[in-house]
Amino acid sequence: MREINFQTIHNKPIWVSSVQKILSTSLYMGEFQYPAGSGTWYKGQHEPLISKELYLRTREAMKRESEFRYLSKDFAFTRLMRCGHCSSGVTAQEKHKKLAGGGIATYIYYGCTRTKDINCPITYLREEDLILQLIGLIDTMSLDELGLRNHLKEDIERHQNFQAMLGIERQEFKLQDFDIKNYAKHVLKSGATDEKRQILSHLKNRIVLKDKVLTIE
Ligand SMILES: [Zn+2]
Repeated sequence: MREINFQTIHNKPIWVSSVQKILSTSLYMGEFQYPAGSGTWYKGQHEPLISKELYLRTREAMKRESEFRYLSKDFAFTRLMRCGHCSSGVTAQEKHKKLAGGGIATYIYYGCTRTKDINCPITYLREEDLILQLIGLIDTMSLDELGLRNHLKEDIERHQNFQAMLGIERQEFKLQDFDIKNYAKHVLKSGATDEKRQILSHLKNRIVLKDKVLTIE
């Protein structure tokens, strides 16, 4: 298990998604669950960095926020996509898989809606693969810069509020210092799933999905 080093917070920006990751491990309050979700708790060797109460309160607030965002923004970007075989729209489908050790894994797949051709030879693309391909395409795409800058601004504010709550010295950021394409790539690489989908809703190009490969129209 990696020792947590609070220095990183002073040396470089820590993003909301990283904060969520930290909170989801709960290591910061000195206890951890192993395997994750098993209900078996261990006490860490180190001093808790935040109190259990703060941990639970913050985590609950983040969960509520993420549920809300999931409902309101989910999959907005699929309207940009069409099937490369039959030009129908593209839709996202949720698939659940029972895990051997108990619990259920959820996967999101993208594929043709078959509204224009009922016999379209659909192949489905996993969301993780879709996002990886889009990260590679972003440099050649047009983005809704204003929308992304607003998203970034909210991200920074949430981060600063979170720091204030932990009593950490406030970091100042200038919005214009951020390369917006790099920011989009950063969230697509390490954001939470709903954050990634929000970033994708700011893409402006039409995207074609054919045989599991995305191309820009
Ligand atoms: Zn099709």
